[in-house]
Amino acid sequence: MRPKILIIYTGGTIGMKHDPKSGTLMPFNFLQITQEVPDLQKFDYQLDTLSFEPLVDSSDIMPDFWVQLAETVREHYHLYDGFVVLMGTDTMAYTASALSFMLEDLEKPVILTGSQLPIGILRTDGKENFISAVEIAAAKGPDGRPQVPEVSIFFESQLFRGNRTTKYNAEQFKAFLSPNYPPLAEAGIHIKYNHSFIRYPKSWNRPLKIHTHVCCDLAILKLFPGIQEKTVRGILSIPGLRAIILETYGSGNAPTLSWLIRALQQAIEKGILVYNVSQCYAGSVAMETYATGIRLKEVGVLSGHDITTEAAVAKMILLTGQFSDNKIITEMINQNLRGEITI
Ligand code: ASP
Repeated sequence: MRPKILIIYTGGTIGMKHDPKSGTLMPFNFLQITQEVPDLQKFDYQLDTLSFEPLVDSSDIMPDFWVQLAETVREHYHLYDGFVVLMGTDTMAYTASALSFMLEDLEKPVILTGSQLPIGILRTDGKENFISAVEIAAAKGPDGRPQVPEVSIFFESQLFRGNRTTKYNAEQFKAFLSPNYPPLAEAGIHIKYNHSFIRYPKSWNRPLKIHTHVCCDLAILKLFPGIQEKTVRGILSIPGLRAIILETYGSGNAPTLSWLIRALQQAIEKGILVYNVSQCYAGSVAMETYATGIRLKEVGVLSGHDITTEAAVAKMILLTGQFSDNKIITEMINQNLRGEITI
């Protein structure tokens, strides 16, 4: 049977083409995608396309977009072997993280990709990204199971676990990094799958569950030398605030200022979740290593381990959307739900 892949086009640079009349980049009619990328026809796959309306620059993406995307995958789940989502790169790491938490017991590939240069431009990186993402979405192992049944991002020859990625480069074709987790696959002459790093279901044929309740009463508080008490207190007193991502130094450290520890402790006592994520790309929060970290742990700050800020935001938005009980949220925050942390 020919693999069936659903291509979901949502917008972003990849779908733009130079319009000779206006001299600007314009989204092109996506239904002509196989004309733009004729090489796709060489695959013996059934490729169907679905275009979001309106198309969005990914900087405009909000959690309702994640819900729409998760619902789209669910609606078509039984009909396709895999999904390729074409979107802008700016918030792709957030979307990939959110989708990973929304789709529980996923057994099929959902691969996000895009490009730094529009697909209509000669030197585009979009064609290679797109073609390889389609090939990986269709790839099955000798047992007939998908090679990568995860939410992932394909970019510049590498397939990453979506919730481990971060966009770090706005110029080069290599736009994404996965600093704390190895690539799931690499596309050279052959596509090589790193099976030992891919998450496979413990047992197959479980129905897909989706979680679509979101709560955005969240703030990111990034520490910097010189941060003032009024700034911290201002953020912690936002009405309705459920959680903050505390972006700390190094392995989860913060200044030992007594007002800072007191402000965090009071917030935690009020029921605000404080989630410690490092400002460093690589490495892990380990609050017990330094005196500057241990105080945070003592007042009840939660460790983000080696999570990215993008995945921390998505995990918190989904968990606070789903549960009102902080005990449950804390338990789940500490669990490795979709391969987003190393514990
Ligand atoms: N601003 C664009 C977007 O994220 C950039 C891109 O597509 O890479 O939609």
